[in-house]
Amino acid sequence: MLLVLKMEDRYAFLTEWYDPTAALLRRYQLFYYPKDGSVEMFDVKNQRIFLRRTKYDEIHQEDLFVGNRVNVFSRQLNLIDYGDQYTANKLGSKKERTLALIKPDVVTKIGDVLELIYSSNLIVTKAKMTKLTWSQAADFYVEHQSKPFFSNLVQFVSSGPVVAMELMGDEAMSIWRRLLGPADSAVARREAPQSVRAQFGTDGIKNVGHGSDSLAAAARELEFFFPSTIGHGPSNTAIYTDCTCCIIKPHAISEGLTGKILNSISAAGFEISALQMFNVDRANAEEFYEVYKGVVTEYPSMVTELCSGPCMVLEIHGTDSPQTFREFCGPADPEIARHLRPTTLRALYGKDKVKNAVHCTDLPEDGVLEVQYFFKILDG
Ligand code: ADP
Ligand code: MG
Repeated sequence: MLLVLKMEDRYAFLTEWYDPTAALLRRYQLFYYPKDGSVEMFDVKNQRIFLRRTKYDEIHQEDLFVGNRVNVFSRQLNLIDYGDQYTANKLGSKKERTLALIKPDVVTKIGDVLELIYSSNLIVTKAKMTKLTWSQAADFYVEHQSKPFFSNLVQFVSSGPVVAMELMGDEAMSIWRRLLGPADSAVARREAPQSVRAQFGTDGIKNVGHGSDSLAAAARELEFFFPSTIGHGPSNTAIYTDCTCCIIKPHAISEGLTGKILNSISAAGFEISALQMFNVDRANAEEFYEVYKGVVTEYPSMVTELCSGPCMVLEIHGTDSPQTFREFCGPADPEIARHLRPTTLRALYGKDKVKNAVHCTDLPEDGVLEVQYFFKILDG
């Protein structure tokens, strides 16, 4: 009898985990077995098994690519490299990052644009609302400086807030440009009626967004907004007055609910005056939720949820915004929310008391402080 042994699929990554107790970075190989969704970890320095192969439902194959973070039993691991050629070929070959810039004409419709981005299988890995100065915008569009429309373009892009995003996915660059459609919105309506510019654009200048047109341009433009080395790029737009803090939690981001939640917030008439994605580490999550420690039984799970992946933090601006926005979020427990306040954010998008879609500031006097925690301290 001939016995045919088929090798089981196994993906390997090199990962880093910041150990807060020892204050050092530890390296592990992470193995993922798609057949049964199990994981295994190997301690690189000490050359020994760290976690024996264990089934773990919280990791999905779509999350496994270099540059992403995954949470394995409360440890946030940065995937810094593919562990073998097989994994790189299978999971890494077509992954790209590109810059998407939402121009001032549609910043209030960012939810709609995000819906289209998610439905094209792209994910948002960085996002920041900023307002460019004339010279920053001129710098960004330097390739067009000799064009007749240059000064109009720079004037428009620096006329109000924009949202810069890093999109990631298979062929992200061309997918986002196809989603945008032709530069002139009128042409887009004729030739690509489903495109973002056809749906939301006005003309050749007010045309919704920008997308990098080559991988080299993407690298330069991502560095412009999200520098990896010195400085931190154009500033955020937080104003720190008459405001409250909203966090779209990591589970909601990874479920692709960001666009829907932002749409609901805008439709209810709230003004989003700052927006940024953060990767919160455990120490910061503990500090941010400090007031709930020993008071709310879910505190440890809340901390784990907040540092389980990227979250999106909003400054909501308006007099009485802490009270009115908190009412709009609804009761902390989505089950209760669905019974008592079915149109609230938690009723619509929450799963349970911890994965309840959004955090909002509880006490009016904490609104400014919570906004400062993210936009001044963590983005400082
Ligand atoms: P895209 O944004 O699709 O990459 P281009 O790189 O050709 O298009 O142009 C950059 C931006 O300059 C466009 O998005 C648009 O806002 C503006 N623009 C381009 N062509 C014109 C034009 N003929 N008149 C006015 N604005 C233009
Ligand atoms: Mg271009």
